[in-house]
Amino acid sequence: MQIRVNSEKCNGCGLCTDICPCDVLRLNGETGLAEGKYERDCWYCGACELDCPTQAITVHLPYMIS
Ligand code: SF4
Ligand code: SF4
Repeated sequence: MQIRVNSEKCNGCGLCTDICPCDVLRLNGETGLAEGKYERDCWYCGACELDCPTQAITVHLPYMIS
């Protein structure tokens, strides 16, 4: 999983779902918390991690094979 959301920190504000340029993140319908729904579309721009007001998101870069 590339996008990790700390459920103890996320307050469900939805900011990350609004700012993600790739539409990767969603609020879970049951928990109301953010989750990485379409992680294959992630560009690793880091905007969600930087802008989350509670520092709930960590973006893990994939291993690069050259
Ligand atoms: S911006 Fe942060 S606190 Fe708000 S929904 Fe996303 S992960 Fe949760
Ligand atoms: S790193 Fe960028 S593209 Fe990936 S989920 Fe966060 S905001 Fe979206």
